[in-house]
Amino acid sequence: MNMGKCTFSRDELIRSLQQRDAPQPLIGLNNLPHDWKCSRRVYRNGKCIFHAEHKDPKKFNNAFIRELKLLANHDRYDFIGFIFPNSEIVGIKFDKPVNFTGSIFNGEIRFVNVEFQDAAIFDGCEFQKATRLDNTSHEGMTSFVGCVFKDDVQFNGIKFERKALFNGANFYKKVNFINSSFNNAEFLFTNFKNRVEFRNTIFRNQSLFLDSLFNDALFYKVIFKGNITFQGSKFFNEISFINCKFKRGVYFNSCKFYHGLTFWLISFYKEAIFSESLFNSALFGYIYIYDVSFFENCHFLGPTKFRYVFPGNREGILNFIGGHLKNRFGFEQFLNEMETTKRQELERIWGINFEQLKAIVNKGRISMKTVSFDMPDMTFVRFVNVEWDRKRIGIGPLRLDRIVVYDEKLVEEGEGHRDYERLAHIYWVLRRNYERNGRYAEAGDFYISEMEMRRLQIAPPPLRKGRRPTFWDTIRWTVLSWGWWRRNLLSPLAIYKYLSLYGESYVLASLWIFITVLLFTFLRAHLPSQGGQPTDLLDNLARSIFALFQLRGEETIDNIERIIGAILAGNLFIALRRRLQRR
Ligand SMILES: [Zn+2]
Repeated sequence: MNMGKCTFSRDELIRSLQQRDAPQPLIGLNNLPHDWKCSRRVYRNGKCIFHAEHKDPKKFNNAFIRELKLLANHDRYDFIGFIFPNSEIVGIKFDKPVNFTGSIFNGEIRFVNVEFQDAAIFDGCEFQKATRLDNTSHEGMTSFVGCVFKDDVQFNGIKFERKALFNGANFYKKVNFINSSFNNAEFLFTNFKNRVEFRNTIFRNQSLFLDSLFNDALFYKVIFKGNITFQGSKFFNEISFINCKFKRGVYFNSCKFYHGLTFWLISFYKEAIFSESLFNSALFGYIYIYDVSFFENCHFLGPTKFRYVFPGNREGILNFIGGHLKNRFGFEQFLNEMETTKRQELERIWGINFEQLKAIVNKGRISMKTVSFDMPDMTFVRFVNVEWDRKRIGIGPLRLDRIVVYDEKLVEEGEGHRDYERLAHIYWVLRRNYERNGRYAEAGDFYISEMEMRRLQIAPPPLRKGRRPTFWDTIRWTVLSWGWWRRNLLSPLAIYKYLSLYGESYVLASLWIFITVLLFTFLRAHLPSQGGQPTDLLDNLARSIFALFQLRGEETIDNIERIIGAILAGNLFIALRRRLQRR
């Protein structure tokens, strides 16, 4: 056996770290002298058993146990640049800092019931096989900065009493944090290339996920006791927060959700701020809001559903606030980075190249076109600079439009039971919201849609199932269908709609008066007059006007016009009152 000294040096370590693209500088190298050398007894090829690439695992383990005893007298445990075979480190108490910087774990590695009573530095380590930490406790800071995990990783029952750093770490396979607790956690530029799960985990203090990349991610039964910030992070696959509690502020700033986002059974005890984030599709269900929450300048590209979101108390407010995007480049980038199929799907909503969405974003507004609300109460929601989608509603020559919510489109496109009652309720809830906030013009818009739903509820139109109706279908669905008559003519709501757009259009109401005056002028000119006087056009017009406004009436035709006039005047009165009344 060669009795020389191991040549593993600081330079060799740094070269090895550079090859692995580990970020520089690493904390683990802070106190390492420039001329640091291993100098342990050589085992093979000029290296000690710890730094040799190939070794007998049994011999390694025995040597490692001896090394632990030896290092017990030093001021720290120095495992810098070790190359570990399959290893299991069980029940050891490290009462001084432990430094694994740059180590390579060639085989499966397990830490079981290990106590790190001081700092534990794993900076720039490479874990080539499955890695497990079971019930380890970390009383000092723990750093996995720039680590590479090439196989599954399991952190089970871990207690991080101080800071835990995962900055710049790359997880190639699945990673689970189960039944663990963090103090401050930092995940900066962390790359989760596969699924990551946090289950039954507590973040006891401020934690950061900045500019991190996620694939599938699940936070299940996680309690955030400190502020939690996700800033500039990208979520390339489904991310779910299920049954989580946010005791402090939650900040999703400039995040990009390329797939679905789910928040289900969540309590936001302090502010929850989603700012300048972009959503592909999202579901917020059973959410309790105890403080002011914001969707500020966020854009919802695909179906975004709010189901049963409640204020937890009187302070619970949910805001949707539009404004001009600070990071327009990020917006374009998001659209370009989308998967082709996803993009095509969304372009069906927004037009080629998202033209419609861009137009709204350029106005500094949030589009509500794909956002659906199904909540019993929305009085705690505020809408500022949002734009609702609109739908044409034509009455004779008048081209009007009304607000249409995403749910109505879904119901129309779907093939199942068309629950117009539910849709009417959604519009009612939104109308009440706008009325309470003194925005009566918009409230009126919701009212029109609410009444439209009630009218359609009387006799729902037939399911068209996407095919073009034939001539016979058209006849069958219209004049031959009792429902069509009721829906469009023979119901008080239908009449109310055509007379004044449910009391919301004084223009329409006035138009009817104008038409009636002209009609009766025309009738007077062509019907034989009772008195046999000559018929003069201006005289007939004057008589028609007088009769309609109840000022004069001698003949049957005057009386008929007076009755109609009374109805139409009442109709106009209602419409004007709606518009002018101080509320
Ligand atoms: Zn060595």
